[in-house]
Amino acid sequence: MVYLVGAGPGDPELLTLRAARLLAEAEVIVYDHLVSAPILDMGRGEAQRIYAGKERGNHTLHQNELNQLLVRLAHEGKRVVRLKGGDPFIFGRGGEEVEALAAAGVAFEVVPGITAASGIAAYAGIPLTHRDYANSGLFVAGHLKDGSVNLDWDSLVRPRRTLVVYMGLVGLPTLCRELAAHGMSDATPAAIVQHGTTQRHRTVVGTLATLPQLASAARLTPPTLIIIGDVVRLHAKLAWYEALAAEQAAAQPGSEAAPQAIP
Ligand code: SAH
Repeated sequence: MVYLVGAGPGDPELLTLRAARLLAEAEVIVYDHLVSAPILDMGRGEAQRIYAGKERGNHTLHQNELNQLLVRLAHEGKRVVRLKGGDPFIFGRGGEEVEALAAAGVAFEVVPGITAASGIAAYAGIPLTHRDYANSGLFVAGHLKDGSVNLDWDSLVRPRRTLVVYMGLVGLPTLCRELAAHGMSDATPAAIVQHGTTQRHRTVVGTLATLPQLASAARLTPPTLIIIGDVVRLHAKLAWYEALAAEQAAAQPGSEAAPQAIP
């Protein structure tokens, strides 16, 4: 049996009860680089842990090797948890993995997780929809395999729409330039959040015109999530998680002040 399990965006408290239970029961845990260490520690000490990689430009296992590995482990009768960051069916190639399992006749279940968009929006105080600002939202992947950015720009620049861009750090300058070229106002609020919901959570807020420069000056490191649209205005008022961390840092002088917001 293979359980394809979403691990959420980083904070272990955002795991589902089902994910936590399956992790505690797993004999083998096959995990991605996005899965944080405290979540992996929720598995049994004796469970075998296999790193499947997938950092940008560093794919430890190729997708079909990985698919074969899952099939082999299942055929060995192991209770396997395939643990992926966020939700397994959102930009996680979870679909391809369960297709391979289905083709090999391996039984599987899929456990949803909190995807980066909703976890990070919540922690950054940026509601993805809001009656005053946005009545639709779109999740897009910010880069292609060859590093270029090629999106259906006209559908991205509709009014009252929040854009959430996964895997967008490298393509951020192109993204902002193309959105402006397709009619989005330069003054549209935009934010990029690094390591959302973790101790390293950090938000940089700007506009379509300024965000690429601000993000590069802040030397953000992946994973990062980009949110573009008028809802980003609310971050200034609603960034509860960053406020909490700032309070904690003030209470413990000398400690790393993270997470933090850069206005
Ligand atoms: N299945 C995952 C997405 C995998 S694609 C999900 O549902 O969230 C990987 C991308 O997700 C990263 O490049 C980044 O854009 C985003 N991401 C995942 N976790 C993140 C985090 N903690 N902070 C910021 N971005 C994150």
